[in-house]
Amino acid sequence: MSVLVFIELEEGKIKKSSREAISYAAALGNTTAVALGSASADELATAGANGASKVLHVSDERLNAGLIQPYAEVLAAAANSTEATIIVTAKSSLADAVVGRVAAKLGAGLVSNVVALPDTSNEFVVKRSIYTGKAFANTSITTDKKILAIKKNAIELKTDGGPADVEAFSVSLDDALFNAKITATDKAEGDVLLPEADIVVSGGRGLKGPENWGIIEDLAKTLGAATGCSKPVSDMDWRPHHEHVGQTGVKVSPSLYIAVGISGAIQHLAGVNSSKYIVVINKDEEAPFFKAADYGIVGDAFEVLPKLNEALKKA
Ligand code: FAD
Repeated sequence: MSVLVFIELEEGKIKKSSREAISYAAALGNTTAVALGSASADELATAGANGASKVLHVSDERLNAGLIQPYAEVLAAAANSTEATIIVTAKSSLADAVVGRVAAKLGAGLVSNVVALPDTSNEFVVKRSIYTGKAFANTSITTDKKILAIKKNAIELKTDGGPADVEAFSVSLDDALFNAKITATDKAEGDVLLPEADIVVSGGRGLKGPENWGIIEDLAKTLGAATGCSKPVSDMDWRPHHEHVGQTGVKVSPSLYIAVGISGAIQHLAGVNSSKYIVVINKDEEAPFFKAADYGIVGDAFEVLPKLNEALKKA
């Protein structure tokens, strides 16, 4: 079975979520990956560790802008060229837009938010996460070509493969496909970006004001984590809007989500349900967030956080 993976790059580096998608694909069959835009051959060859035998590189610099239409053209062309019957991508807002178009072009069935390898014993049935992680649905794909978007942090990363062969792949892309132009990019502050973060330290109204965010930032720094917040916190401009986690904000799926002074309203939980472990720090033992937590500390954030941070620094 020939499987094609869409690699997403972040400043020329393969995103961890794409490495998970490659690991998933490698369990299905012979895996070729396709990378778009500027990246070094050495970096792309590391996709082999995750299970890709080959990486097709379309180095056209116009692709660095991350525009959806040319990406869909390239992915469809690569799928035809490799005769891929399955296309795999990490789920992301960019990938959703790209593979939707590719599915229409190729007449392929598309399932997003996939959390496990398909059951092929009878039909081709994939398990996907629904209702913001509260339930799962088993969905059968009946088309010959299939596209799967894999949920972040759902698949164990394979890291033991050798380097992949990197080959140039060229697709003739009409200038008309590039008629939208990114004129400026405004990078979020902080070392770790929230949607991609493996650990998130998030603060709520219990922090009392923006001047107290130092204890959140210190802990995040110690853990190499991104910082997040509840909606009221960003509404009051204590924190920037791109940090707002929840139903109406960023949906995260880190290995560890630490919620400090957040009550755990259903709209906040909708954005964090997929976290592997949730730690809640709240001075009210009746706070609803404790019901969703793997570990909880009942205590005052202003006392607990500095102590936790000191202990973690020593660990
Ligand atoms: P609060 O509910 O005020 O909770 C503060 C918590 O801090 C309390 O549990 C308190 O016990 C604790 N606390 C206080 N002092 C301390 C201390 N010193 N140490 C430790 N703990 C302390 N919210 C989101 O977050 N994301 C969303 O996407 C979102 N979307 C929404 C969409 C809609 C349509 C609606 C109606 C609401 C939405 N909300 C969302 C708002 C949501 O309903 C809650 O109002 C919000 O999440 C509460 O934020 P909070 O937990 O920071 O504040």
